[in-house]
Amino acid sequence: MSTETTVATAVDVASWMQEVASAVEAEATHLTQLDSAIGDGDHGVNMTRGFRAVVEAVDDSQPPGKQLITAGKTLVSKVGGASGPLWGTALRRAGRAVGDAPALDGPVLADALDAALAGVVELGAAEPGDKTMVDALGPAVRALRAGVEDGGDLAAAIAAAAAAAEEGARSTVPMQARKGRASYLGERSVGHQDPGATSSALIVAALGRALGPQG
Ligand code: ADP
Ligand code: MG
Repeated sequence: MSTETTVATAVDVASWMQEVASAVEAEATHLTQLDSAIGDGDHGVNMTRGFRAVVEAVDDSQPPGKQLITAGKTLVSKVGGASGPLWGTALRRAGRAVGDAPALDGPVLADALDAALAGVVELGAAEPGDKTMVDALGPAVRALRAGVEDGGDLAAAIAAAAAAAEEGARSTVPMQARKGRASYLGERSVGHQDPGATSSALIVAALGRALGPQG
């Protein structure tokens, strides 16, 4: 009998999008509660509607870069709230960074997430500490890069990124919002976890459930 083990070396984009859709749907009530406290209470609905549409639109026979671009375009067109254009831009930029690469292995994924973060920052102009999705995504992208450059396995790098995103989301609680709808509340935004940072942590964690052998 073979003792060979299958090493998970790449993220499957269609599986990632399915895992995100399931996760945001399962957490929709929580995300909406968070957005009700400091926004307009639509974040759970926005994310669920958007990623359901993404799952419908993504064709897993296409190369990963193309799937990400389709996912991004779908979010931009289906989600009215700030999170639609922001995550839409993120995934489109990620797809462009992936280009013709055949698989989202560690280095390709690290480049894709760097590009995603850069797209969010370019569009939304949020800085670290502004109480936005950047406070979860930024630490996650850096942790993933560090894990990949350490040469460890991709599952461990993604687990570190997910932990960093989760911690980043929690770090938004004492922050005062300086971007987006929550910024209208001024000091009253303090003491609540940012909904977009919270869903971003779900999106990063979903990477770990979309890992498989390459190709
Ligand atoms: P809306 O605020 O339009 O109702 P959502 O509720 O879907 O949209 O998303 C709100 C989330 O979007 C916030 O919690 C925050 O994380 C994120 N967000 C809002 N504005 C920005 C921005 N300029 N840059 C980065 N993220 C932002
Ligand atoms: Mg909202």
